[in-house]
Amino acid sequence: MRIVLMGPPGAGKGTQAARLVETFGLKHLSSGDIFRAEKASGSQLGKKLAEIMAAGALVPDEIVVEMMAKAIAAVGDDGLMLDGFPRTVAQAEALDATLKQNGTPLNAVVVITADDGEIVERITGRRACGSCGKGFHVKFMPSARGDICDACDGALTQRDDDREEVVRERLAAYKKQTEPVIAYYRTSGAKVIEVNGSQSPDAVTADMAAALRSLE
Ligand code: AMP
Repeated sequence: MRIVLMGPPGAGKGTQAARLVETFGLKHLSSGDIFRAEKASGSQLGKKLAEIMAAGALVPDEIVVEMMAKAIAAVGDDGLMLDGFPRTVAQAEALDATLKQNGTPLNAVVVITADDGEIVERITGRRACGSCGKGFHVKFMPSARGDICDACDGALTQRDDDREEVVRERLAAYKKQTEPVIAYYRTSGAKVIEVNGSQSPDAVTADMAAALRSLE
């Protein structure tokens, strides 16, 4: 099964993908994670990506398409959950071409929906431990020790692109460049499934699981 998972930043794509890939035997490929790993490597490309991401802008299509094609090739014929890619119509067209060439078309596009106010509250409150990576939220899942990780004593930090002004940019980029991708998939005849992301995370997982089961 090959799925594209879409939705605005902060809709819970990463969390939901991580919960579902094992159950359905899929490999989770998150373009944001792949870019953050490149950034962490300190490479020249990583430095360029870091600048773009810190501004909340989109990485140029040529770079995205090349990096994701490599990652998809490494997965081979196994099931796939693409998270954060494609984000532009040009990327969607390139993905279609790659999958067609491999004889492995998409089974569905799952869109998690959420409203802007909710997104800003969710993203700007996210924190992660700089030492062990444990995730927190200042309102919904605070550390018992404030700015200190309650698992390992590390300091909690906010991702550069989780600051409010950047989140607003990311939302604008989503509306301008990524919402047309959903329209592209609808007109190309792909199966587009919408899941209400304003529910509790467990309810979203249940809806997504039901949608994926219907594809098996
Ligand atoms: P994410 O973790 O999916 O929110 O991605 C973090 C950042 O990585 C985004 O704000 C973009 O700067 C960049 N990015 C991730 N995926 C893509 C993509 N498919 N196309 C362009 N930029 C992307």
